[in-house]
Amino acid sequence: MTESEGSRLPGFYNLPRQERLAQLARASGLDAASLAAIGGGAGLTAEQADHMIENAVGVYGLPLGIAVNFLVNDREVLVPMVIEEPSVVAGASFMAKLAREGGGFRAGADEPLMIGQMQVLGLTADQLAGAQQALLDRRSEILAAADEVDPVIQKLGGGARGLEVRPLPKTDAGPMLIVHLIYDTRDAMGANAVNTAVEWLAPLVEEITGGRVHLRILSNLADRRLARSECSVPVEALAFEEFGGEQVRDGIIEAWAFAEADPYRAATHNKGIMNGVDAVVMATANDWRAIEAGAHAYAARQGRYRSLSQWWVGEAGALCGRLEMPMAVGIVGGATRVHPTARACLALMGVERAAELAEIIVSVGLAQNLAALRALATEGIQRGHMGLHARQVAIAAGAEGESVERIARQLVAESAVRLDRAEQLVRAEASGEMS
Ligand code: NAD
Repeated sequence: MTESEGSRLPGFYNLPRQERLAQLARASGLDAASLAAIGGGAGLTAEQADHMIENAVGVYGLPLGIAVNFLVNDREVLVPMVIEEPSVVAGASFMAKLAREGGGFRAGADEPLMIGQMQVLGLTADQLAGAQQALLDRRSEILAAADEVDPVIQKLGGGARGLEVRPLPKTDAGPMLIVHLIYDTRDAMGANAVNTAVEWLAPLVEEITGGRVHLRILSNLADRRLARSECSVPVEALAFEEFGGEQVRDGIIEAWAFAEADPYRAATHNKGIMNGVDAVVMATANDWRAIEAGAHAYAARQGRYRSLSQWWVGEAGALCGRLEMPMAVGIVGGATRVHPTARACLALMGVERAAELAEIIVSVGLAQNLAALRALATEGIQRGHMGLHARQVAIAAGAEGESVERIARQLVAESAVRLDRAEQLVRAEASGEMS
């Protein structure tokens, strides 16, 4: 990113797509191959796809947009987002602009500690405590054995960090002992290293406990690998149209309190957060199912499903927000370095560590949460959404090229964003009489 332009790019959304790419090239300093991969010319090929999954027959495209205005830990970032839903990229960009007025996002991430689980069966309830102690007594031997599996991670300063043992005396399959291997996966998401390590350890755990190790698999509740972001928006920056700054701020806090108190609302509130999170996770070819699973399990960690974010009134009446959630993402491994567009997206953000990527992702999640709460607490979600939705309806009705915008505008003007009306308009255009 060149210092002169940063991530502000005013008017980016109004430019034709090719000019947006040209501006992106100037602002990011990306090489031609990366720009081509981002600009749609050189994404994943069918041949590459064939090496990635079974029975591959093709590749599937999705829109890739750039969220502007992000300032994360004083660093300007242009954020790539892959998503089919309208309004998300615009919402993130606009809220990042508001957050900038309070200094941008302050984000941090834990060490990249993942949890590998082993399920020990074949013990009676009375034997659990003894087996637990035996494992803890031989902790260093077990951790040293785990460190043998991935010399690369070991050399980079990662590897086994801890052992936890939890007896579950009463389950539907009888007593079991659950062993957690805590493993530092450095810049990888780490599923493979962790799964290999727990499979490798199973015979040793069986020897020590006298039980039978059944499942050996990573946990997606990556609660040792949390990332968090905070922002503070000056109250005057929240005012718009007939809505005063304090009114918007208090409305946002009331909306958040609803999610905090009610799981039906919390599910939708957190879905809005994931609109931002998943879009960046997908742009970097990380495992969004893993992130989703971790997010929702973490949201329910206190026994009731709650909001992943918090909003409150801060100094000088500013609106302050915070998002904390598990963020097991990598910048090496999986598809992150295989998918050309994902590689280019990582280059665009200039991230050098997985933790930096995690910090950007939670910041985007927080921005997205703010976008949804602000709309819901003021004019309602449909007004901003409809213009963008209308374009999709126009395309679904068969509109092409410039007529997409024309028909979308007409649908909004008539307050009739419906497929049947769009089809009428497409037919009318085809016969030369736009009604
Ligand atoms: P990976 O095994 O492809 O790559 C990680 C490896 O890269 C490390 O083990 C290490 O040997 C090497 N490496 C090189 N430089 C490194 C660095 N700087 N930091 C860390 N490691 C470095 O990838 P992965 O991250 O182990 O696996 C991710 C994939 O596993 C995802 O695609 C995910 O879909 C899949 N997966 C997920 C689950 C789950 O979430 N439950 C289960 C199984 C598989």
